[in-house]
Amino acid sequence: MTQASYAVFETSSGVKIHRLPIQAFPKFWAYAYLVSANGHNILIDTGSGSEISHENLLNGLQQAGLQPADLTHILLTHAHIDHYGGLVKLKSLTNAQIGCHELDVQIVAHHDARLALISRRLASFLTESGLASDEIDSLLGIYRFTKALYRSVPVDFTYEAQGMQVGALKMIHLPGHCPGHVAMRVDDVVLCGDMVVEGVTPHLAPESINPYGGVEHYLTSLARLQEWAEGARLFLNGHNDAFTNLAERIEATRQNLIRRMSRALRALAEPLTIAEVCRAVYGEMSGYNQLLVIEKTGAYIEYLYERGMIEVTNFEEVEQGSPARYRRLQEISDDEILPKEKRYVFI
Ligand SMILES: [Zn+2]
Ligand SMILES: [Zn+2]
Repeated sequence: MTQASYAVFETSSGVKIHRLPIQAFPKFWAYAYLVSANGHNILIDTGSGSEISHENLLNGLQQAGLQPADLTHILLTHAHIDHYGGLVKLKSLTNAQIGCHELDVQIVAHHDARLALISRRLASFLTESGLASDEIDSLLGIYRFTKALYRSVPVDFTYEAQGMQVGALKMIHLPGHCPGHVAMRVDDVVLCGDMVVEGVTPHLAPESINPYGGVEHYLTSLARLQEWAEGARLFLNGHNDAFTNLAERIEATRQNLIRRMSRALRALAEPLTIAEVCRAVYGEMSGYNQLLVIEKTGAYIEYLYERGMIEVTNFEEVEQGSPARYRRLQEISDDEILPKEKRYVFI
């Protein structure tokens, strides 16, 4: 996306929501939001915590007429580094109460332990994917490097314990893209974090790495978001411009997911490892992008396998420690890949 910009939105009851543009990583922009209502100044998301990200965040607050010390709350839509990394530098400038969803507490407040655990699960997933060992080492190095920016910050409260409401903000838990992902709503405006990203599907990783991640959770969350957001007029996004047509965006996202998984299924006429499916779907990739696409492919294969659309062809070799090879069971049409919406029960 091109350079992001500062903007102010207003809800039906006149609550102002300031959008703060932040360059989270070189050429990668994210938005934080500031909601001032009922005597609360609530910051939602914090950028990555890099020098420039922190500077952008402070500038954005200033544009909204505030200093970090004026914040009463800092809330996270989800615990991905481009949203929570900024807590580290912000923490020393404010006494704001820090909140996130229960399922993201470990990553925010006990980061080193969580990182150690997830690195090991990632290593085991990459080995099982059939990548060469030098590729695995380099991807694990990249993973650890991107997370090393952060130092644990204590969390003051969690969302479910607050009844999914903080001041004027109501929340809904939407696991999938991240275990503790939430959307927030003030009147007729919804802040939807990274649930719906323009033109692509949000990042997904297999549940074997991160419980409450994966395709199935994400699909259920899309349907829940659509229902919960009934009557909302405006949707504010973690990275892209505001939009009004949630149903269309959700359908486009579902179609993007179907396209990727159906490309994987076409390749799976032959038995392939996850690494081979990844090459067939995304082509040759390197560095951080390779880590992202192998995780996405792992999430697709996990979903297709659990739903009985593909099988493991070499279980005897798997018993001996070889990576699994998958093959599709039969021709599967695109509309069989995703379950029908009526399967979802909204509670
Ligand atoms: Zn994210
Ligand atoms: Zn993001």
